[in-house]
Amino acid sequence: MRPEIGDEEIALVTETLRSGWITQGPRVRELEAEFCAATGAGHAIAVANCTAALHLALHVLDIGPGDEVIVPPHSYIATANAVLYLGATPRFVDIDPLTLNLDPFKAAAAITPRTKAILVAHQVGRPANLAALSDLARRHRIALVEDAACAAGSRYQDQPIGGNRWSSLVCFSFHPRKIISTGDGGMITTDRADLAARLRLLRQHGMSVTDLQRHGSKTVVSEEYTVLGYNYRLTDVQAAIGLAQLRKMPALVSRRREIAALYDAAFAGLPGITLFEEPAEARWNQQTYLIRLTGRTLQERDAFMQRLLDEGIASRRGIMSIHREPAYTTRFGLQHFPESEAASDQCVCLPLYTQMTAREINRVIEAVRRLAPH
Ligand SMILES: *Cc1c(COP(=O)(O)O)cnc(C)c1O
Repeated sequence: MRPEIGDEEIALVTETLRSGWITQGPRVRELEAEFCAATGAGHAIAVANCTAALHLALHVLDIGPGDEVIVPPHSYIATANAVLYLGATPRFVDIDPLTLNLDPFKAAAAITPRTKAILVAHQVGRPANLAALSDLARRHRIALVEDAACAAGSRYQDQPIGGNRWSSLVCFSFHPRKIISTGDGGMITTDRADLAARLRLLRQHGMSVTDLQRHGSKTVVSEEYTVLGYNYRLTDVQAAIGLAQLRKMPALVSRRREIAALYDAAFAGLPGITLFEEPAEARWNQQTYLIRLTGRTLQERDAFMQRLLDEGIASRRGIMSIHREPAYTTRFGLQHFPESEAASDQCVCLPLYTQMTAREINRVIEAVRRLAPH
């Protein structure tokens, strides 16, 4: 991945720096309004990163000690960490190997009287089965939260991810590895005004009056600190980058899909390689292009990555299995989720960034065809 930062970002950042307002203020408000327009969400709350977004999303659902939250083990570690921050227990449920997303049937079997929520990740931006998960959550009267860190610009059943048709809260990341970036940054969308109000309070120290309100007031206003809050603000400098990025998002997604289609055509039918298809009911932003070396060992996968690197082509391992990390084995012992583990060991992320030239794309294609084990 390589972020695409151009003159538009630089101009807006310069203007913001000259404005004298550089932390959360008018630019953040503008970004939130444009994010609502882009996703169809009722409310958008900008925060420092997606990890903070996940923490606050579970917090406003009043999740705490004694509660269980169903999470996929096959995700970035922040997904499950958010549950631990609140003293609750992440209940890992294995993935569907064809989609790499939480398996709704396995999730149904894991619900207990303590289950408060399902936290589903749209892995590599590929929308999970929201219809089935939302139905499951509704039947058990528990919340559904989306970790859409990778899924800005993806669509599910003809609606943008983040539109809150299926879940209570959707969390996005603006890290440089994601579709659009502000350096670091995040966003939460929700249709519930009560949750939005609590999120705004919690992201800024629990402060009853924002800096922007105080600054705009003709009378002296003093703030109150009504709840234990956090400093999870996005700055106006970051929001300026985000505004330029968000306006480019449709073009960025189209270009990624073009490159992915070239890869798909070139690798289709290669023995020993499994590709990931776009779900019929979704439009995938192609945040990460994964191939799977089916049946291969971790060592064979790493050797393939090394052969690519020897030719100057950087790849990355597939998505991690959170339950295997020491931060989790020391708490919960050794758990096993065979589909997640096999996918972690066999998948490779290939280079995919919007500025790739035809020559670079062809170099990757040629190298993968020649060097993949078969
Ligand atoms: C990147 C990522 C995160 C963390 O996002 P940050 O903005 O870096 O905190 C969380 N969940 C998933 C699935 C991710 O890919």
